[in-house]
Amino acid sequence: MTKQSSFDKVEYVDSKSDDWGNKDIVNAMMPLILDRLRKKAGTPLVITRGAHIKGHNPNGDHPKGWGADIYFPKLAFLNAVNIVEDFLLSEENSIYGFLLDDLCSLGIYPDWKPVGGFHLGFRGHKARWGRIDNKDYMDQHYPDRKHNYVSLGTALNYFNSIGV
Ligand SMILES: [Zn+2]
Repeated sequence: MTKQSSFDKVEYVDSKSDDWGNKDIVNAMMPLILDRLRKKAGTPLVITRGAHIKGHNPNGDHPKGWGADIYFPKLAFLNAVNIVEDFLLSEENSIYGFLLDDLCSLGIYPDWKPVGGFHLGFRGHKARWGRIDNKDYMDQHYPDRKHNYVSLGTALNYFNSIGV
């Protein structure tokens, strides 16, 4: 079986400067989706992690080649959130009548430095989450929680409340 590569079909996304991990297992949709997202944002998009196995849940998007961690170095985080959400909900990006919003995973990571980032995965179904790395905040609001994953909305509220 030959694996389709779409890196030669994209304008902005770069298989060399970005950290795609094992390019042989990158799902062909990921470069296409991120290229369009980059184009829509009109500002650089950095891919910090693509098809990596190490340090990830083996059942997660990264080892399967259909997930990427990204951030927009020149955008305020909330602007970037709006752009990503609009992109996923846009009819022009739909596939066989499905919005990308219904086909993709989206995680938000407001505490990443230098600016908050995202996980985006072409998973075939919808999944949403957020992560709060601020231990004091988590201890105060979720004292019984053993992990720092929350709903996407909770992570957004957190980001708004800390007033960055
Ligand atoms: Zn990720």
